[in-house]
Amino acid sequence: MQPFHYSRVSSIPQALEIQATAGQGRSRPGAAYLAGGTTLIDLMKLEVMRPQSVIDLRALSATHGAIGWDGATLHLGAFASMAEVADHSDVIEHFPVIAQSLSLAASAQLRNMATLGGNVLQKTRCAYFRDPSWQACNRRTPGSGCTAIEGINRQHAVLGTNEHCIASYPGDFAQALIALDATVTLSGPEGERRMPFASLHRQPQGRPDIETNLAPGEIITAFTVPAGAWTRRSLYLKVRDRQSYEFAVASAAVALEMNGRVVNEARIALGGVATVPWRAREAESVLRGHTLDEARANRAAQAAFNGAVPRSHNAFKVALGQSTLVRALLDAASLEVSHG
Ligand SMILES: Cc1cc2nc3c(=O)[nH]c(=O)nc-3n(C[C@H](O)[C@H](O)[C@H](O)COP(=O)(O)OP(=O)(O)OC[C@H]3O[C@@H](n4cnc5c(N)ncnc54)[C@H](O)[C@@H]3O)c2cc1C
Repeated sequence: MQPFHYSRVSSIPQALEIQATAGQGRSRPGAAYLAGGTTLIDLMKLEVMRPQSVIDLRALSATHGAIGWDGATLHLGAFASMAEVADHSDVIEHFPVIAQSLSLAASAQLRNMATLGGNVLQKTRCAYFRDPSWQACNRRTPGSGCTAIEGINRQHAVLGTNEHCIASYPGDFAQALIALDATVTLSGPEGERRMPFASLHRQPQGRPDIETNLAPGEIITAFTVPAGAWTRRSLYLKVRDRQSYEFAVASAAVALEMNGRVVNEARIALGGVATVPWRAREAESVLRGHTLDEARANRAAQAAFNGAVPRSHNAFKVALGQSTLVRALLDAASLEVSHG
């Protein structure tokens, strides 16, 4: 691990001030924020991330860690731990897809340490990104190439890829947020702003190393999730190589508003198969206004993977992703939901 300067802050302005001056004129990247540290420290040990300065934000859990539910909107402080949110009774009752996406992630120890903000900004698990002995990785070293395209790419994405990067987005919680049209609140040198969660992550384009639309120094402070007629009938289905402590090979976040067996509204996002949290709007259109049976669910799943680009080892992800979505839709349709 490279030496770095460590500072601990207790307010956003303090963090922004240190961030603005860190690493100026140095060859290494300036500052990195530390929340739970379960991604950052890992990648610093691997020398994938080599910040000059680490700004510890953990004390912000006191001011930006609250969970609030007012009957219309769920407010999640970005410094709440994954465990706190997964176990919160209002989240479990009114937004089951959020609670499940968090409780099915990582391990109990990690969920206790890790924060919501850090979770959505976690880095890909692409083995070529995580091991600097592989020289070609556009996400780590811009312009160097992508080893995964011709390499072992079983874990990689089939949606949202291009010739610059096929690394999959590894998180679970982000799928729940994008399906439910969440908003993210940011604090930066220019003040506070909000953006749709769907605009936070960037597909690789020409610069896979630029993973988000955050401005330099911006801190995620909160997530806001509106309740809809579909949020209670929601679930997260995660398929992985083993049943715990493992990332998704394919997953689906699904929320439905039903009138009998007919779908009034559908919200769908896919995980494990795309370069970013992936909203499957074409699949939603296939469902709206139709009876949800296995045939209709299959049509929606086909639509969800229109445009998928499989590589040598990950073609199975198309069929697996489709069957994951079919099962999630049918399971969600059969949930017994009370409207209280
Ligand atoms: C063995 C293992 C298994 C895992 N399995 C899963 C899994 O199944 N599903 C899953 O979803 N995740 C999984 N994870 C990932 C884990 O959930 C993340 O590491 C964790 O959520 C990151 O949160 P953190 O608070 O520790 O972030 P940190 O490591 O502190 O930060 C992560 C990144 O976000 C930045 N950052 C953090 N907070 C903010 C903020 N508020 N504003 C701006 N930037 C910020 C940091 O600078 C850093 O770049 C696993 C991790 C491990 C090690």
